[in-house]
Amino acid sequence: MKIMKRIYVILAILTAACGAQRAAAAGLKIVTTTSDLAAIAKAVAGNKAEVHSICTGKEDPHMLQAKPSVILQARDADLWIRIGLELEIGWEPPILDGSRNNRIRPGAPGHMDASESVLVLDVPQGPITRDMGDVHPSGNPHYWLDPLNGRRIAGAIAERLAQLRPADADAFRVNATAFRKALDERMFGAELVKAVGGEALWAKAADGSLVALLEEPDNKGKAGGWVASMAPLRGQKIVAYHRSWVYFAQRFGLEIAAELEPKPGVPPTAAHLAAVAESSKAAGVKIVLQESFYSPKAANQLAGKIGAKVVVVANSVGGQPEATDYLALMDLIVGRVSEAR
Ligand SMILES: [Zn+2]
Repeated sequence: MKIMKRIYVILAILTAACGAQRAAAAGLKIVTTTSDLAAIAKAVAGNKAEVHSICTGKEDPHMLQAKPSVILQARDADLWIRIGLELEIGWEPPILDGSRNNRIRPGAPGHMDASESVLVLDVPQGPITRDMGDVHPSGNPHYWLDPLNGRRIAGAIAERLAQLRPADADAFRVNATAFRKALDERMFGAELVKAVGGEALWAKAADGSLVALLEEPDNKGKAGGWVASMAPLRGQKIVAYHRSWVYFAQRFGLEIAAELEPKPGVPPTAAHLAAVAESSKAAGVKIVLQESFYSPKAANQLAGKIGAKVVVVANSVGGQPEATDYLALMDLIVGRVSEAR
């Protein structure tokens, strides 16, 4: 009898241990539409979630397809995070429908639209016609290339995870704070963040008074990071392939003089390229910028004509081997653009 009791106790302990292990392994399952959202979600969720991205960062996110493997991934997701602003309009509905997972349907707590937490540019004024090309009616969806938006997305993900798993709310908020601190130091340099504070610096960046702040005697020479690397390019005009660099350009004071696409989503034509060559030469354009999933032919042709450099760089995490996470992606872009001037 004593032996039996002991066996029961041992069995009970073993069962409890297995149960605990299973609970740890069965953390939250997050599926994101893009790799940038996945990178930020990983930073915020830490070891409390498994994160999968549908885009790898090497494809054009407008053109993805709802593959069966992706639908399977969505089936047991606890949280779905999308870019929104109709970036995924061609492929998100079939995935969500096919998944039959009510927890991640629009409106459910497990469905998060990251665009609700960011600053949106290019919101069209007036009616939109087919004639205008692939225009997004609620604004430009390529917002992740403004680090301020990356910072805001991290905060929003932490709050959504806290809502889904209140027991881990503190951990998510601590992780988001660490992500923001690391991002602030990469953006402004550690010395300036220490002197002024990350929150205050971003407020100045957002209202357009950062340049003036950096000129104040107390702050002069203190800026480091992306701000210092990009400062010599302020006011430069560039040509981009697609309207996907507007947020990056706006944050660092670059001006997009023209795009190689005659209309969003429409490949370059000879007539359009000739017009761009003329106007961008007159504007003194020295950089033609594009992501790697477009053909570089038009960019090379234009650059040859006007004496500019072509920068082909990933605009999403995973688009190039160096772009291992969100901060590394921004490091890569800032490095490539600033060395091309
Ligand atoms: Zn686009």
